[in-house]
Amino acid sequence: MSHILIENLCKQYANRRHSRRKGDDLEVGQEISVLDNVNLEFLDGEMVCILGPSGCGKSTLLRMIAGFETISSGRILIDGKPVTGPSANNIFVFQNSGLLPWMTVWQNVELGVRHMQDEAEKSRRIQEHIDMVELSGFEHHFPHQLSGGMQRRAELGRALAVNPDMLIMDEPFTGLDFFTHMKMREEVVNMHEFLGKTTLMVTHFIDDALTMGTRIVVMNGRPSEVKLNTRLDVPHPRDMTTNRELRDLRDEIYLMLGVNYAV
Ligand code: ADP
Ligand code: MG
Repeated sequence: MSHILIENLCKQYANRRHSRRKGDDLEVGQEISVLDNVNLEFLDGEMVCILGPSGCGKSTLLRMIAGFETISSGRILIDGKPVTGPSANNIFVFQNSGLLPWMTVWQNVELGVRHMQDEAEKSRRIQEHIDMVELSGFEHHFPHQLSGGMQRRAELGRALAVNPDMLIMDEPFTGLDFFTHMKMREEVVNMHEFLGKTTLMVTHFIDDALTMGTRIVVMNGRPSEVKLNTRLDVPHPRDMTTNRELRDLRDEIYLMLGVNYAV
């Protein structure tokens, strides 16, 4: 179970360096407001896709939900309890591969379940998740012996082996080639439909959000505000080319972010 309630959330950082951007006259150490009064509610089992331009605070928001980042003001409640730090119930899949390069696929997945006492049960759990992400036969390969897509799948397998209530993914498809990206998003949707875990995903790709999300959140501005927060109850498989609702929402989001898709 993971119901997430974000109330009046604000985040300020101390400026780290002199900005060379015109019109930015921030001093080092001066506070920058990244998130301003963010209010969101995510229901148990939702696949939430968060969109927004670079630097608008998407990773900051995810890190605060995961308990890795302090909150300046406001609060985040998960199942009614305030987030005070990282928890094994929420697993974070990072933007760049988080696999340990000196460990095999098996050992990396084992990291997620290292607390398990029963060795036979532990091995069964590891194999089950390696199979689930279709890496059977690659158990003893090291990350550098895998393609980018296989590395992401191994990471997903490790995250799921922990059996968390919630999966948090920050741009999980960045850096993948087009075909791997398309396949991965289908796999993540299938996995979400099968396991029903609350999933939060930041993506730069509007089409990812529209084909995957059961809720779409758009953030923009500085400090960043929630510009859109909507449920999307379109069943899978979703086809952007034929579904009017998806196309209209895509146009609305493009407009909201101030970009053109027809060039
Ligand atoms: P996004 O993920 O949407 O691209 P981030 O959440 O990474 O954006 O960053 C939002 C803003 O906060 C950026 O301007 C970034 O420079 C700033 N920022 C992020 N982390 C820190 C930090 N630890 N210290 C100071 N500023 C930070
Ligand atoms: Mg980011």
